[in-house]
Amino acid sequence: MSLPDNSADIAALYQELILDHYRKPRNKGTLDNADATIEMRNPLCGDEVDLQVIYSGDSIGDVKFSGRGCSISQASASMMTQIIKGKSREDIDAVRTKFRDLVMGDMAVANDKSLGSLRALSGVSKFPARVKCALLAWNALESALENRK
Ligand code: ZN
Repeated sequence: MSLPDNSADIAALYQELILDHYRKPRNKGTLDNADATIEMRNPLCGDEVDLQVIYSGDSIGDVKFSGRGCSISQASASMMTQIIKGKSREDIDAVRTKFRDLVMGDMAVANDKSLGSLRALSGVSKFPARVKCALLAWNALESALENRK
């Protein structure tokens, strides 16, 4: 994906990406043979994310989520499932740390290409109440990886 130079264009593109994932969530549904199901709630916003994973050795072999809530929480979950599928725990931890830094306002990672479409959520850092929305699915993922230990 090539980005436009104009920051207003980038903001519009990011907004479009978020809405696209919100309207057409990737990897939404349930897994028949899930190894773990983690339910996360964000009562402040009413967001719900139920994450299901199938482990494959040290990797996440498959992942799906179901849920409802604001566009930030659901788009973040959708983008997350896309980027972690098939990845090792180590790679996932690296992305998770960078994404957390991004939504906490660390602009040094805002141009990190390894974050892919997740960079669209960088604007969340300006709205502290929305950070919990953005991190909901990631907290579920953290539990899923902890369970595996
Ligand atoms: Zn929310």
